[in-house]
Amino acid sequence: MDQVAFRQLWRRFAELIHENREVLNDLDAAIGDADHGSNMDRGLGKVVEAFNANSEASLHADAKLVGMTLMSTVGGASGALWGSGMLKFSTVLPDAAVVEWSGFIDALDAFVEALSKRGQAVVGDKTMMDVFLPAMTELRDSVDVQEGSEEIVVALAEHAKGWSDATRDLVARRGRAAYLGERSIGHIDPGSVSAALWFQALADTVR
Ligand code: ADP
Ligand code: MG
Ligand code: MG
Repeated sequence: MDQVAFRQLWRRFAELIHENREVLNDLDAAIGDADHGSNMDRGLGKVVEAFNANSEASLHADAKLVGMTLMSTVGGASGALWGSGMLKFSTVLPDAAVVEWSGFIDALDAFVEALSKRGQAVVGDKTMMDVFLPAMTELRDSVDVQEGSEEIVVALAEHAKGWSDATRDLVARRGRAAYLGERSIGHIDPGSVSAALWFQALADTVR
């Protein structure tokens, strides 16, 4: 993964979030406060602006820029999680323009670990972790495969969508939706949908 691809990934994610912002708000309306699409769209719009205004020297600097921007502009539970996760991600990326696929996966591992630590959510809690945790396992298992192995990333995006869809049947145990208890059943978790869109953006970038 090089800097050009890394920025392309975030620009694509910003596009996908923008296209889906009403869907994400509607999902959040059912089990939260109807702002998840607006939160993510605002933050990712700022990430794109920050890219346009800065030509950072390295992947590390780019990822830090993403983390700081998300942290200060997304807001809500998702802003703190995505922001601190990406800051952690940046610490693992080298001060270089290119990273091996295995190094990218290491950084993603650090991102997911930071989210787990901060949010305390496990698989089955009906959050974005229902996508990130199994995705990480799948990526780890593929670590020996060469970068650019499209099939793996394209399959992962599909699986991520499936894991997100499966949150429909779960009882929310973390975040705002947890207040609803059993009444959260029957609705897909909005944060899991944006997490799946991130993997879609990754697939679109590698493809
Ligand atoms: P808020 O709930 O503060 O309005 P958002 O609507 O932007 O924030 O984000 C809600 C999403 O954040 C949820 O759909 C869920 O996926 C995720 N989330 C909430 N709490 C946690 C947590 N403790 N750990 C992981 N993800 C969480
Ligand atoms: Mg919300
Ligand atoms: Mg909110």
